[in-house]
Amino acid sequence: MGNRGEKARTNLLRWTRRPRRTWPFLVFIVPVLILGYTLYDAARPVALGSLIEARERPSAGSVAGYYSSAKTAEAARTPSVETSTGLSDIEVRRKLDILARTRLPSPPPSDTCDDLMVLVDREHHLPPGYEPPNLVSVEAHGAPVYGGEMMLRRGAAEQLGRMARAASAAGEEIMVSSAYRSYAHQGVVFTRLVSIYGEEQARWTSAPPGQSQHQLGTAVDFTNSAVGYKIHKAFGHTTASAWLMEHAPEYGFALSYPNYKEAETGYRWEPWHYRYIGVENARSLEEDGITLQEFLTREGVEPRC
Ligand SMILES: [Zn+2]
Repeated sequence: MGNRGEKARTNLLRWTRRPRRTWPFLVFIVPVLILGYTLYDAARPVALGSLIEARERPSAGSVAGYYSSAKTAEAARTPSVETSTGLSDIEVRRKLDILARTRLPSPPPSDTCDDLMVLVDREHHLPPGYEPPNLVSVEAHGAPVYGGEMMLRRGAAEQLGRMARAASAAGEEIMVSSAYRSYAHQGVVFTRLVSIYGEEQARWTSAPPGQSQHQLGTAVDFTNSAVGYKIHKAFGHTTASAWLMEHAPEYGFALSYPNYKEAETGYRWEPWHYRYIGVENARSLEEDGITLQEFLTREGVEPRC
């Protein structure tokens, strides 16, 4: 009886001691764990949000940048609680990201081909259907022409008229022998040259359709009485050519195919062929002392139309 009583007392003691060791855990540790998890859970979306923004920070000035900034601003206006769709703000941001990417517009037709800086050469072609906007008569803008009607884009024609008047005032004769040529017209010109000189020779002095700057409506060929109104290298040795070399950039024109640059441009020296790229661009090209080919390659506006 005494033994059994002793055993019961010991069991009772064990039972009463156990809760005493468990209570500190229940009273202090569990609330600390709950509080810790609550704080972690509240901080996590903020940390994740910053991480997503940091990773996808838009590059300045890009189209993607515009959309990225727009959607970030939109996401910032989105309340950081669960939305009516049942999505957290992180999930909403992710969906906005996907939407922004899928809605990125492809450049509208003629967008880059109309750019004054678009690169057109052996590798960068214009499609058969491309026609430049605002073609006007160069003669009506004060530039003398040799042959039939010559057309250029309005801005180019206006500057050409000013340049022709300035040349005339300086005692130089410059006449326009060729200006805008459509894809089809270029095809006729090229085929005729191939029939005379063979394709290999023709490619050094003329472009197959789609590869000519004349299709842009900003390129012009000059001639004058000193070379019998022909398009000929002899034009490069006239005082009119020297005047153009010096003053054309003031009116936004650049010599497309300079001497000793055949390997770079793919064309022999064409002292008669100038392209309008705008006054500011022509001046910066001149200041940098580089060719039009180098300048346009550096700017990187490729024909997408
Ligand atoms: Zn030309």
